[in-house]
Amino acid sequence: MRHFAVVGSGPAGFYTAEALGKAYGEQARIDIIDRYPVPYGLIRFGVAPDHQSLKAVSKRYDKVAESPGVDFIGNVTVGRDVAVEELLELYDGVILAIGAPHDRKLGIPGEDLPGVVGSAEFVGWYNGHPDFADLNPPLDGTHAAVIGNGNVALDCARILSKTRAEFDGSDIVGHALEALDGAAIRTVTILGRRGPHQIAMTPKELGELGHLEAAAPLVEGADFPPLQADDALEPGQRKSINILREFAATAPDVSKPKRMIFDFFARPVAIEGDGKAERIIVERTELDESGAARGTGETYEVPASLVISAIGYSSPHIDGVPYDERGGKFRNEGGRIADRLYAVGWARRGPTGTIGTNRPDGYEVAELVAAEMPVGSSSDRRGAEGLKQLLEQRGVMATDYDDWRKIEETEAGRARPGSPREKFVRAEDWLAALGR
Ligand SMILES: Cc1cc2nc3c(=O)[nH]c(=O)nc-3n(C[C@H](O)[C@H](O)[C@H](O)COP(=O)(O)OP(=O)(O)OC[C@H]3O[C@@H](n4cnc5c(N)ncnc54)[C@H](O)[C@@H]3O)c2cc1C
Repeated sequence: MRHFAVVGSGPAGFYTAEALGKAYGEQARIDIIDRYPVPYGLIRFGVAPDHQSLKAVSKRYDKVAESPGVDFIGNVTVGRDVAVEELLELYDGVILAIGAPHDRKLGIPGEDLPGVVGSAEFVGWYNGHPDFADLNPPLDGTHAAVIGNGNVALDCARILSKTRAEFDGSDIVGHALEALDGAAIRTVTILGRRGPHQIAMTPKELGELGHLEAAAPLVEGADFPPLQADDALEPGQRKSINILREFAATAPDVSKPKRMIFDFFARPVAIEGDGKAERIIVERTELDESGAARGTGETYEVPASLVISAIGYSSPHIDGVPYDERGGKFRNEGGRIADRLYAVGWARRGPTGTIGTNRPDGYEVAELVAAEMPVGSSSDRRGAEGLKQLLEQRGVMATDYDDWRKIEETEAGRARPGSPREKFVRAEDWLAALGR
């Protein structure tokens, strides 16, 4: 028998557990440990609440959690409640799948002003992440800006621009829905350091902007290279650029009161305001020979009382685990960090790729584990039994699969009209739902 601890119950954690289960069958016990009593990582706290079909992937993860030999241990933060070193004593293999939950800093003056938030904070706020329940982003100004040219930036801009009715069927949390419904924001500027060809936005997410009830996208035709340059793009990117070109060619629908302005070749150099964010100072850029953004020296102001930076994420440090500062992830080679210690998903690769990208990643690392600890081999490590004993001694109230289900059922029972559930937004409410 082998015992494996998969730390983190996001996509990477579940795909790894699935792969280990397939490889070892009855010869391994796999514990999926998470800091929260509810699983799924960014599927719950990141993926946009109005993209319910994407969140349905969690049904596959449920099957993994229900399979024999797999257990869920929630409400346990590795690195705080239990050290990685201790897990390595209890388990044959420890796989870190803790994602990359921290916002990268902009590194410009004014980024600590009230009104400037990271996308992890803003997204967490509307998705019911307990760390951001009290974020209260300022929504009383008419102008907001999102810094970044990826899908997360698009999510933030779209959520700021939707009407209440457009959230029907979503699981946006009530506090965010109310606040957004009362928001005064009419213009959202999306700032990118480079041009349309360099975006990291996918066609589906871009296309949605053309069909919003109250908001219209605005793109400057002069920002594009000549049409023939699109031929060199890979097909998905070409599709995205086509959508942007269509936006540029269409006169904005004046019946829509809100605008989403794509401001390309725009590098924020400072955020200014009287005790809070009021404007971004932006430097116009151009592409240099290597395709990087080069400042032109010309600056201008973009008004914004809410500034959301969506420029990437990093994993947290965990004591004793080597870290790659530049990549914002654990130092690893093909998923291997050290003897019997591995990383998968964003903790392994950094914050790129889709949910599906984590699948081959998890399977690859499971293969590596199985090569190092062949199926049929065994050890006398104690696994969950030892972990639970340790947690009890420390007064850590671990939760299990039944607790997770009970919380989800309670949330579903609190659903308001037009929403499948009302998520709890405070950690203590999860435990209260369990009567603890
Ligand atoms: C805002 C946003 C929107 C996105 N939208 C999409 C989309 O529409 N489509 C798409 O394909 N992809 C989307 N993605 C990407 C997708 O969410 C990621 O590829 C995926 O979630 C990464 O999986 P992961 O398991 O590595 O990390 P995560 O999903 O972050 O999971 C990490 C897990 O580890 C747990 N954890 C963290 N620290 C500890 C600790 N110390 N101890 C115990 N547990 C811990 C966390 O609670 C969490 O459950 C989005 C990402 C973001 C940020």
